[in-house]
Amino acid sequence: MSVEQAPVQRADFDQVMVPNYAPAAFIPVRGAGSRVWDQAGRELIDFAGGIAVNVLGHAHPALVGALTEQANKLWHVSNVFTNEPALRLAHKLVDATFADRAFFCNSGAEANEAAFKLARRVAHDRFGPEKHEIIATVNSFHGRTLFTVSVGGQPKYSDGFGPKITGISHVPYNDLDALKAQISDKTCAVVIEPIQGESGVVPADVAYLQGARELCDKHNALLIFDEVQTGVGRTGSLFAYQHYGVTPDILSSAKSLGGGFPIGAMLTTEDLAKHLAVGTHGTTYGGNPLACAVASAVLDVVNTPEVLAGVKAKHQKFKARLEQIGEKYGLFTQVRGVGLLIGCVLSEAWKGKAKDVFNAAEKEGLMVLQAGPDVVRFAPSLVVEDADIDEGLDRFERAAAKLTQA
Ligand SMILES: *Cc1c(COP(=O)(O)O)cnc(C)c1O
Repeated sequence: MSVEQAPVQRADFDQVMVPNYAPAAFIPVRGAGSRVWDQAGRELIDFAGGIAVNVLGHAHPALVGALTEQANKLWHVSNVFTNEPALRLAHKLVDATFADRAFFCNSGAEANEAAFKLARRVAHDRFGPEKHEIIATVNSFHGRTLFTVSVGGQPKYSDGFGPKITGISHVPYNDLDALKAQISDKTCAVVIEPIQGESGVVPADVAYLQGARELCDKHNALLIFDEVQTGVGRTGSLFAYQHYGVTPDILSSAKSLGGGFPIGAMLTTEDLAKHLAVGTHGTTYGGNPLACAVASAVLDVVNTPEVLAGVKAKHQKFKARLEQIGEKYGLFTQVRGVGLLIGCVLSEAWKGKAKDVFNAAEKEGLMVLQAGPDVVRFAPSLVVEDADIDEGLDRFERAAAKLTQA
C-alpha cells in the first residue's frame, strides 16, 4: 500500500534544507545494481557508490532480504538490551579481523569519536592525564564532529567554530621522519588513513605504516587506522590493514559496512576495550538491529574470495582504460589508488577543475566523485558488472572528449 506523496523538486532543497550541501541538479529516485534513475526516468551509471558506501550497488537482493526480514521482526530496542543482529555482526567482525571487541554507532565520525576517546581513556588510565596528545596527518579527513574536525588535517573544516579540541598535532602524510620528530611519550595515539580518501586518494607507503607501528610501540601510543573509506573490501582485502600487513590497535569502519544503511563500528582488542567500562561511552541507536542485520549480510557477500578477487580484477580494468583516456585527452597524469578506490590526478591544464569533470560526466549519464579540486575519484560497487564498467567508461570518455574539445 503506498500513500500519495506531495511532489518535490530540486528547487525545494534551496527552500527547506540547510544550505551546507550543493546537490546535483537531478534527484535520483531508484537504483538497481550499478544503475540509477532520476525523477525524469533518465538512467545513470553509478561509479560514485554514494561516496564509497554502496559496496554491493543498489537494491542488492541479499541486503534487501536482510533488511525486510529484520524490518518485520524488530527495529530498535536501545542498548538497555542487546540484540541478535548486533551480536552476530560483532562475531563476524571479530572472526575476520585482529579485533576482539566491537562498538557500534551510526557513522564514520562517531566511529572515530569512539576511537579517539578510547585512546585518550586508555592513556589516562595507564599513564595519567599528561599522555593525551594525538598525532594526525595533514589533509586527513576523519568526520565532521568537533573532535573529528580537530583531528582532521583540514583547517577549512575546523576553523570558525570556536575553540578546537587541543592536544592534537598534524604531520605530513607518508613522512616517517616527520612523525618520528613529533611523537613523544605524551602521545596517546597516531591516527592514519591507510589511503587518504577525501583529500585525493593517496595510498600510504608500506614502510610508512610499518614505521608508524614501530614508533607507536616504542612510545606506548596506540595506532588508529581510520578505515571508514578503505574498509569492507574496498582494497581487495576485507580491510586495508590486511592489504598492507600492518595491524592497528583500533580501527574505525563505516561507509561500506552498511552498504547504504547507516552504521559505524570501532574495533579493538580486549585489553583496550576494557577501558570503556559501563557508562563511559554510548549512543542510543548504536547496534540498531536493522543496521546490524544489513551489515551482516554485507560481510557475508563481501568477505568471500570471489568478491575480493573480483575487486583486484576490476581495478586493473578501470586503471588500464582510465590511463588510456587520461593520456588521449591530456586530462590526467596519474591513476592511483588500490582496489576500487581510484583517483585520477588532473594534469596541470585541468588542475582545480575536478568539478567540471564531474559535471561533464553527469551530462553523459555517469556519476563520479571528486576528491578535492584536483582529483576525480571512482568508488563503485565492488560487484559492478564488467559490462557496466565498459559502458560507464565509454560515457566517461565521451565526457572527456567533449570537455577537452570545448
Ligand atoms: C567519510 C569518512 C569519515 C566520516 O564518515 P561519516 O559517516 O561521514 O561521519 C571519516 N573518515 C574517513 C576516512 C572518511 O572517508
